[in-house]
Amino acid sequence: MKHQANLASAVQVTDLNSDDCRTPIISLDNVGVTYPNGTVALSPLSLKIEDDAVTVLLGPSGAGKSSLLRSMNLLVKPTVGTISVRVGGMLDNSRAVREHRRETAMVFQQHQLIGRQSALQNVLTGRLGKHSFWRTLLPLGPDDRRIALECLDRVSLFEKALVRCDSMSGGQQQRVGIARALAQQPRMILADEPVASLDPASSRRVLSLLQQICKEDRIPVVVSLHQLEYAREFADRIIGLSGGHVVFDDKPEKLTEPVLKKIYGA
Ligand code: ADP
Repeated sequence: MKHQANLASAVQVTDLNSDDCRTPIISLDNVGVTYPNGTVALSPLSLKIEDDAVTVLLGPSGAGKSSLLRSMNLLVKPTVGTISVRVGGMLDNSRAVREHRRETAMVFQQHQLIGRQSALQNVLTGRLGKHSFWRTLLPLGPDDRRIALECLDRVSLFEKALVRCDSMSGGQQQRVGIARALAQQPRMILADEPVASLDPASSRRVLSLLQQICKEDRIPVVVSLHQLEYAREFADRIIGLSGGHVVFDDKPEKLTEPVLKKIYGA
């Protein structure tokens, strides 16, 4: 889908300056994404992400899931609309964007781990944002290592702490990716197709870990998926996307056949 609209870059992000749990962790107001080649990935949409919920972005390939997810930490910069965050200041400057990203952990489809490094070394990279640039030039200290080991324990990989990541299975690597996200001690976790390359058993394990973290630590998780059965199993809320439009936003039990047709076509 392409158009030539000349959308002004209008990302104004409001600091709600409050840790009040009634304030959504992030609010998108008429946010849209058009790539420089004219592709409209996301037509303007508004939504709020609440605490304590697993929100699944569901839709076929090209529906706009990744663009929406990545606009939530400005890895993809919205071309129109406003974003408000509960804490973090105005995101119209690079310092505030950095702060917001420090508080927002990302789990990727291809893990984005350094294969020749151990699980522990990879998880420790989740701690880097907690220190000044100069401090990160030195090895991180015992407190960071303790936190990283606790995170590995949380994903049942404590015994693999010193094992190179490239010798681990895809499911184990993704669990290291989750431990790294946890080590960041984030306010929100964004997971971009985290199970796209995993077998069903590993997929369920990864998704139940994310669900458990959300419920136990009260960290909202937003996860993009294209597998309907996992969305039904793990989501508190499903946002269905089609052609860059939100065509459904409700609880999984409301996902009826007619709605599925809207999301996936006839
Ligand atoms: P999904 O995650 O649902 O597969 P995406 O957000 O990746 O969807 O893509 C939405 C649309 O934007 C698709 O048409 C895709 O081809 C296009 N797109 C994604 N990334 C870029 C990019 N960097 N440049 C141009 N078009 C892109």
